Amino acid sequence: MAFFGTNGVRGIANEYIDPQLAIDVARSLGTYMRSKGTVAIGRDTRASGDMLKSAAIAGALSAGLTVIDVGIVPTPSIQYYVKDHADAGIVITASHNPREYNGIKLIASDGSEFSREGEKEVEKIYYSRKFAAASWDKTGDIRNEGNANTYYLNGIINSVDAENIRSKRFKVVADTGCGAGSVTLPFLLQKLGCHVITIGAQVDGTFPWRNPEPTPDALTELVDIVKKTGANMGVAQDGDADRAVFIDENGDFIDEEVVLSMMAKYVLERRNGPIVTPVSSSSRMKDIAEEAGVELEWTAVGSINVARKMMEVGAVFGGEGNGGLIFPEHQYCRDGAMACAKFLEIIASGQKLSELAASVPLYYNSKTKVRSENLENTMEKIKTEAINIDLNVDTTDGVKIWYTDGWVLIRPSGTEPIIRIFAESKTKERAEELMNEWTDQVSKFS
Ligand code: MG
Repeated sequence: MAFFGTNGVRGIANEYIDPQLAIDVARSLGTYMRSKGTVAIGRDTRASGDMLKSAAIAGALSAGLTVIDVGIVPTPSIQYYVKDHADAGIVITASHNPREYNGIKLIASDGSEFSREGEKEVEKIYYSRKFAAASWDKTGDIRNEGNANTYYLNGIINSVDAENIRSKRFKVVADTGCGAGSVTLPFLLQKLGCHVITIGAQVDGTFPWRNPEPTPDALTELVDIVKKTGANMGVAQDGDADRAVFIDENGDFIDEEVVLSMMAKYVLERRNGPIVTPVSSSSRMKDIAEEAGVELEWTAVGSINVARKMMEVGAVFGGEGNGGLIFPEHQYCRDGAMACAKFLEIIASGQKLSELAASVPLYYNSKTKVRSENLENTMEKIKTEAINIDLNVDTTDGVKIWYTDGWVLIRPSGTEPIIRIFAESKTKERAEELMNEWTDQVSKFS
């Protein structure tokens, strides 16, 4: 298994993710950078953040890099900072994972996530243990940067119609869950003229309010307060605030696939150009692209794949159906606060979130998983079977089988011996039927 997963290195803090690991990852990055340049290092609010950030700083200094310590930052904030002020970034975060986790993620010089190829190079150095060690007079210096978040928030404000938003004096309830969004989102809303009601906006790495993942069942208070205060919108973020989920003015949780397509629809009503999404996303994106007469590019799962494809084709919008939206006018990475500001722009334009949500096509999903000891072999058999029965097959990531009335996506897990099966169709029954049909096939081949 690769050292770096889909989102960097993750594990239980001070067990797997310990100071030595943080030092060595930073030394590997410094070696990869040939001991030249500056690296911005920041963290989310997790309890082990200071410990791991200090270790990563020591590793980077040892390799001869100059370190810019940006403190507590959302992942998109340090990405925005790196784009303009550093040659690379390291963020100590485990995103939406439970409280006890932490992790390390690398950021490329353009602010996007490290490419898979880049990670493989760093990984090679990590396992070789051949770290660059600067001579006694060449170890690096630290500079403290207290304004990374302000710089980031100004970037967002400049990318939306702030004047119109401010004129509406919206009431917004924000649940930042004691994560990194606590140091940015309430201030962004305030700068956009909103009456802000916060929940869990104190920085606390034990996450006493809720777990860092903003699932609907963790957001009952948010819903309650939106209803009781008659707010225009509710918003909640994950631990590193690159994702956001939304509650409409009626207090209803908006499905994240619906959020993605609502935003695509809004953007395409104003700008013309391709949009990008992973193969796991709903057909809503396809319908919306067709209606607007623009190209839709499907990519492998993972926001880095979406971001890179967006740059390649000059997309006007992209994102994943998990609340990770990417706005190229701001930066090529998923950004929860930017998505929130964009939603305020939508409401300020005169549309209600509930109405826009109801205007996107309706689809139903089913999913399950099957245990499989030989993932590669099973996937190969599935692909052959699908092609043999003359189905329309897309192998961008796993095997996606298109039917006239839906699709099935079969993907191996990157971390466990299981194969996941997702199905989508216009009716719940058909989605289940498609899922069951292929669950039988996968079981047969496993
Ligand atoms: Mg995250």
